[in-house]
Amino acid sequence: MKAFQFVEWQRPGELREVPIPEPGPGEVLIKVGGAGACHSDLHLLEAPAGPMALPFTLGHENAGWVEEMGSGTTGFARGDAVVVYGPWGCGLCMNCRRGMENYCQTPGRPSPGGLGGNDGGMAEYLLVPSTRFLIPLGDLDPRDAAPLTDAGLTSYHAVKRSAHLLGPGSTAVVIGAGGLGQMAIQVLRALCDATTVVAVDTSADKLEIATSMGADVALVSGEDAVRRIRDITGGLGAELVLDLVGIAPTLAMAAEVSRVLGHLTIVGLGNASLPVSFHGPALECSVAAPFWGSIPELIEVISLARSGKIEMKVEHFSLDQAAHAYELLHHGKIRGRAVITPHG
Ligand code: NAD
Ligand code: ZN
Ligand code: ZN
Repeated sequence: MKAFQFVEWQRPGELREVPIPEPGPGEVLIKVGGAGACHSDLHLLEAPAGPMALPFTLGHENAGWVEEMGSGTTGFARGDAVVVYGPWGCGLCMNCRRGMENYCQTPGRPSPGGLGGNDGGMAEYLLVPSTRFLIPLGDLDPRDAAPLTDAGLTSYHAVKRSAHLLGPGSTAVVIGAGGLGQMAIQVLRALCDATTVVAVDTSADKLEIATSMGADVALVSGEDAVRRIRDITGGLGAELVLDLVGIAPTLAMAAEVSRVLGHLTIVGLGNASLPVSFHGPALECSVAAPFWGSIPELIEVISLARSGKIEMKVEHFSLDQAAHAYELLHHGKIRGRAVITPHG
């Protein structure tokens, strides 16, 4: 089968011919409907080197149809539409038993397919290690639903952990209105409708999309945005600041618009650091860098999508066009999420 693989550090991915995997006991083979192209893949492809062995197939945002169940598996049948939970854990430690396999505590846990060395979904078929990681999609199309598993789930988790701060009169700032940011804005609308949502981006196009998705205010990134957010919040700053970029200027902006007792949440992997001391961010503002989300949260994300409350703006590409899709993402030319659809 054809697979789009990460072959060499600091080189674009490559389309290669690989064998179709065979599901062993407990495993499931998925016919891939869609595999989203996340900005994290670009960070990885552009990194000087890393701990994982190459090559492996990219694609950690996956959805499709059950193709073949390995021996001993039950609960699903051939043709069922499913999304695949990405951060595979051991299933047995305390965090995994709570459904938080993103925070599996077992050393040597399996790496997520498409990110850490195991093969991902940018191929005709994807091997999933357990039915634990499959969530039924109902009538949603896997080609459109794939990004819910990361852009959707990561944003959902990052918003939900701060939802108690976001009542009437509150403000939430979303820095970076790309794939994750557009989801975060819609999740804020769905879970915390009373809050004022401020979107910040460098691209006028993204700001227009952010507004169409429910942002109350859309601001071009920079010093002016800081002044505007201070005005909107009466000089106090925002209850939640979500930085979905994570570079030095966005972290500095996030610190400047944070509020006493607020949350400053760093999701973007821009690789800069934020100094935290008595002098900033605001007093008793909690700073956290969450990774992905839990299985129960993914079930909630799918429910929100099925009820039409959140919807990813997707652009479909064939496997042959995968390198081109990443190039567009690199240049900020993907309006929502690029999804690779190996079967058309
Ligand atoms: P994307 O490319 O779709 O969106 C990034 C957005 O940031 C774009 O709209 C871009 O215009 C905007 N941007 C760039 N520079 C900016 C600036 N200075 N100020 C404001 N906006 C700016 O990327 P994505 O797939 O949504 O991913 C966003 C980030 O989240 C990436 O760094 C990715 O690696 C990371 N990520 C983290 C997790 C996690 O679990 N923590 C999960 C998925 C993605
Ligand atoms: Zn990702
Ligand atoms: Zn575990």
